[in-house]
Amino acid sequence: MTANTTALIDPFGRRIRYLRLSVTDRCDMRCRYCMAETMSFLPREAVMSIEEAGQIADAFIDRGVTKIRLTGGEPLVRRGIDTLAAHIGRRLGGNGLDELTITTNATQLDRHADALAAAGIRRVNVSLDTLDAANFRYITRRGDLDQTLTGIRAATQAGLQVKINMVALKGLNEDQILPMMRWCAAEGHGLTLIETMPLGHIDEDRTDRYLPLNLVRDQIEREYSLAPLEETSGGPARYWRVGELGLKLGLITPLSNNFCDGCNRVRLSATGRLYLCLGHDDKVDLLTALRSGGEAAMHHAMDDALRLKPLRHQFEQDMAAGTPSVSRHMNVTGG
Ligand code: SAM
Ligand code: SF4
Repeated sequence: MTANTTALIDPFGRRIRYLRLSVTDRCDMRCRYCMAETMSFLPREAVMSIEEAGQIADAFIDRGVTKIRLTGGEPLVRRGIDTLAAHIGRRLGGNGLDELTITTNATQLDRHADALAAAGIRRVNVSLDTLDAANFRYITRRGDLDQTLTGIRAATQAGLQVKINMVALKGLNEDQILPMMRWCAAEGHGLTLIETMPLGHIDEDRTDRYLPLNLVRDQIEREYSLAPLEETSGGPARYWRVGELGLKLGLITPLSNNFCDGCNRVRLSATGRLYLCLGHDDKVDLLTALRSGGEAAMHHAMDDALRLKPLRHQFEQDMAAGTPSVSRHMNVTGG
């Protein structure tokens, strides 16, 4: 059968080039801004098999996706993740895919780093919100900082570049942003700060923890000089060079700065549902289409999905109103 290679272009003319592929909604942590303490997870039969995830990834690459990020939940708790990485990785190097990456909390990274590197992954994003062990345990509700740091070291040893993602949280880790910048610079990691987004009900009121990054920038600039960098990832991050540290700093400001105009990404949940925007509930069920009607039906569903891609999200208004933009948590669609 010849592959469907029709480009994926939404009604606003944005070409889809980037797929975030969630392989599980499960996680071995319960970060306060991401999940509630008690979560119910999907039954296993509702989740894509590793083979199905690979088949869907191939279809997206055939249709012009050049970058895939594996995510979750925690992608490294999914059995078969190394096999999936190897399957997708074979499309690197002139076979359609420019980059395969992963976002992880690093608890299992020491066991997987070599396999991920062998699959062709060159860069990993690791979520780390503080370097203080007690604070880390509090924010993640069950994490062990040493285990995460061990995972990060293993990644570096395997030749993977590590970028740290830190969610800026008022009253929880705002005093740790400068220490984190210095640590990342010393370890040779990039650092990206993220504003907390109103996704899913958690046990706390998110507005209490929302820390606009323009305030953080003022705080940083009292110590260091920030020079804007031209480069973009095609996504929400804006990059800066911290002169004195030689650190590349990314700021993701989904609330205080809308970034939707150039959005080229879509997200596939672990249940095989394609979400067109992190801040909207519109979705199309690719897995059911694939299971019931095969590849042709899945491609048809992909075309249907494109029509649903909205122009923009409205996180800022929803945060101000104190209501989640969508009921699903971040672990459903992945970061
Ligand atoms: N478990 C992996 C991890 O933590 O890196 C991957 C999935 S996690 C959902 C992906 C990213 O989303 C993490 O960097 C996490 O900090 C971020 N995140 C989760 N909930 C968020 C929220 N409500 N607002 C902003 N970022 C969030
Ligand atoms: Fe798990 Fe990542 Fe969510 Fe933390 S942010 S609970 S590590 S999925």
